[in-house]
Parts: sequence; C-alpha cells; structure tokens
Amino acid sequence: MATPAGAAGAGIVYLVGAGPGDPGLQTVRARALLATSDALVYDALVHPDIIAMAARDRVVPLDMHFVGKRGGQASTPQEEINALLIRLAREGKRVVRLKGGDPFVFGRGSEEAQVLAGAGVAFEVVPGVTAGVAAPAYAGIPVTHRGVATSVTFVTGHEDPARERSGTDWSALARAGGTIVLYMGVKRLSDIVTALVEQGGMTPETPVAVIEWGTCASQRTVTATLSTIVEQARAEGIGAPAITVIGDVVRFREQIAWFDRRPLHGRRIVVTRARAQASALSELLRARGAEVVEVPAIRIEPVDGAALQAALDTVQSYDWLILTSRNAVTIMWEALRRRGLDARALAGVKLCAVGPGTAEALLEHGLAVDLVPERAVAEGVMEALAARPDVRGSRVFFPRAEGARDLIPTALGEMGATVDAVTIYRSVPDGAGAEPLRGAIDRGEVDCVTFTSSSTVRFFVDAVGAERARALRAASIGPVTSATARELGLTVAAEARTATIAGLVDAVTELLAGEPV
Ligand code: SAH
Repeated sequence: MATPAGAAGAGIVYLVGAGPGDPGLQTVRARALLATSDALVYDALVHPDIIAMAARDRVVPLDMHFVGKRGGQASTPQEEINALLIRLAREGKRVVRLKGGDPFVFGRGSEEAQVLAGAGVAFEVVPGVTAGVAAPAYAGIPVTHRGVATSVTFVTGHEDPARERSGTDWSALARAGGTIVLYMGVKRLSDIVTALVEQGGMTPETPVAVIEWGTCASQRTVTATLSTIVEQARAEGIGAPAITVIGDVVRFREQIAWFDRRPLHGRRIVVTRARAQASALSELLRARGAEVVEVPAIRIEPVDGAALQAALDTVQSYDWLILTSRNAVTIMWEALRRRGLDARALAGVKLCAVGPGTAEALLEHGLAVDLVPERAVAEGVMEALAARPDVRGSRVFFPRAEGARDLIPTALGEMGATVDAVTIYRSVPDGAGAEPLRGAIDRGEVDCVTFTSSSTVRFFVDAVGAERARALRAASIGPVTSATARELGLTVAAEARTATIAGLVDAVTELLAGEPV
C-alpha cells in the first residue's frame, strides 16, 4: 500500500444505505455517490432500478459486483466480500458498498467498517432509510404515536427463541411495553409469538402486522393478533423480506393506510422512453401507485469517426467549441486523452456550454466556459452566440449527438461562421436493459404497456420482440398511435379520450383500477 488512507488518488469505500426498496427513498448523498463511483458492490435487497440508474450513461462502464443471494444460491461469504472491498480500494477505486435499508441496522455494515479500518482503507458511512420504519410507514403504521407507543425496539428474528442462550431477552422485550419491530422473523414467527405470550405475558389480542416487500410496488400487508398472525401470514403466503410490527400502533392502519389504497397500486406498467415526455408519464403513473418499468433503456455509444480525429488534430485552429451535453464533454475528453492531449490543447479556444450541467462537466476537466446561455436549449445557444461580436467569420467546432437538429450549424452559417458539426455519439436502445422486462412479460407480471406515439410502438416491438409485445395489453394516447399498434398486431385495450399524457393516465386507470390485482 503506497498511498495512505484518505490521500488524493487513494481508493475509498462508501458503506451506503440504499433505502428499503422504493428508489425514491435513496438519500441525495447515495445518489451522488452512485453516479460518480468507479465500482459497486451490492446485495440482493437493493432495488434493480437503483443499480440500473448507477450503470446508466457511463462511458467507462461501472465495475459491478453482485454479492447477495440469487435464485436459492448462497450469498458470497463475508470474507470474500471483505477481500473484494479492500482490493478494489487498493486499486485506487471509489467503491460504493450498497446495502438495503441502513448499512448499520442488521446489515453487517459495521463488521465491514471494522475490517476496512483494520486494513487501513479509508471509508465513509452513508445512512439509509431502514425497512423497520419505512415498511410500517407505507402500510399506514407509525412506529410511535403520542399516548400509544412511547418507545420502539428493533429486533432481529434471526435468533432462535427456543435456544437456551438466545441473544434476545424476549420476555423483557414483551414487558417493555412499546412497539416491537421484527426484522428477518418470518420463519421463526411462530416461536417468537409463543415466547412473547408465554414467557413475556403479552396479551394474545395484541395487534400484529406483517409487511412483505415494504415500500415496493408489490408491498402486501397482513394484520391479525399475536394469536392469529402465524396462521394468517401462512394462509396469505407471506414470505421474506418482511417486517413484523407488534403493538397497538398497528390499529392506525385502518384509518391512515394510503400506499395500497391508490388506484394503480400493485400494477406494473411499461413506459417506452423514446421521448422526453416519458418521465412526466412515469411520474403520473407512479403517483397513482403503479410500478413503472421504463424501457428500453438508452445506451450512449461513442462514434469514433475520422471526422472527430481530424478535428482534434487541428483543434487549436478553432475559435469556438460548442458542447450541448455532458455526454458530448465526456466523449470528447476521452478522445482527447486517447490522443495524449489534455486541457492545454484547448488553450486558445473559446467554450460555449448549453447549460450549467455541461459547464460543470467541462470544469471537472479544468475547462471554464466563456458562454452559457440563459435558456439551456439550442435556441438559447444561438441567441447567446448571436449577441457576441466575435462569432462572425470565426471557426466553430461542434461535436454533437447523432440525429441532433441542424439549428445551431445553420444559424452559425448565417452569422458568417464556418462550422464543423461532427457526430461523436449516438443513443442506442439498450438490449441488455430490456432483458429483465422480457422475463417479466414471460412471467405475466406486466399489466399494460403505454404508447405516446407511433414511434414508441415501433421502439417497444424492436426491444422485446413482436410476440411478447402481442401478449400484452396496450394503452394508447390516441387514434394514430392505436392504428400503428394494431397494424403490428398489438391489442389496444385502452385509448385516451383526450390525446394528452393526463388523458392516457386516466385511460390506464379506468382499464386497471377495477380489476383484482
Ligand atoms: N439493513 C436493512 C436490514 C437488513 S436485514 C435495513 O436497514 O432495512 C434484512 C431484513 O430486513 C429482511 O429479512 C426483512 O426483515 C427486512 N427488510 C428489508 N427490506 C425490506 C422490505 N422492503 N420490506 C420488508 N422487510 C424488509
């Protein structure tokens, strides 16, 4: 180990809580670290969308290591995980060690911290929203309530209450009187309930709730009493992961349940991401309780053509360089570096960035911009350049995305500038990103697919294949889109009455809200 822990260039491990399931319950810090880390080591209970988001839009792929249980197989032994974290950090990487919920609540995060401390590897801890608070909250159960429960105990159900030297004093716990929140207790629930009643003297009528897959779209909650919960949970087929809440606070669910009362709760709906408006559609569907699967994911692919190489060879001869996305900055920088160049190659070139994000990306490479328009769109760039006295007669290098509009080159030409507009990257449908969706369709887990235009229909059919697409019910924004869908053999089960995103969401709600989940 040549570099001391914490020194610049040395690796570091972030022990990060991913939250209980719902990707919206990640912390801002977790998001930021996931977006910028070099390596990711993650467990089974982390929501797949969080992993996909971390891997998305990277030019240098994220180094990913799954170490949880998968399909009945045992998880990676703890010693191997420890060794992996140390190795990655010693390679100089910024490593996110991502765990479900909070890393220090029944998460072995503290054991990993001990090992890292012992090895002299720098680390930081990023707390997360723990399942024992979040799952009850989503089920309409407060873990404390004034006058009803003034304390709450988090306890692992992993310990066998029948064992003589159990680490948990169940009878003391029963006598303490507050809310009991049980993690990992589904298998041992029967023994635990018995211990609480027989050893601890709790009344068998004490309310209990078991919450399976809390905060996820598939969350299910069973409520009963200490005497009936085991039978009830078994009857409903409740399995891990689940949180069990024991105490009078469970009664609040009847009044303040909210999550599972939304009209699209428990529905899985596919949104095709071919247009910018897709995120508005996803947000509206999520707000009504649906689980949204956005597909296909888009992957950024560099186009390393001769035109880019030629432009870089003579990059000092340009007066202006215009960059209209973070991706353009990253890809141009990588290309520069591959030629053995760095920021000095752009010394005499003025820089225009489309908006603050792109400007920031440039600054990360030691390049401060000369011009950022007020409006972060092509029109804004044009207006800002038109107001400059030094554009006419200048030479402009404009590396851009495939299929970008010609607005900027045309306008610059009219202003008397010479523009080299060079395609340096393209967005391609990510086949691998659509893979989990194909599985979900085959298992009958998709309730409906939404289409906002004819091109989204074609995009979707390309991504999952015609046969799978035909197995689904489609909801369309209007007659033209519906016609395209039918031409391709799809079943249009709902069509928006007004051709807007809101109209489409209403149509989906009418289609699905009345049906049993
Ligand atoms: N560090 C995690 C807990 C890990 S122990 C946290 O802070 O939440 C794993 C147990 O957590 C599971 O057996 C289950 O009891 C609980 N758990 C984790 N995610 C859950 C979820 N989405 N719904 C219900 N229980 C969950």
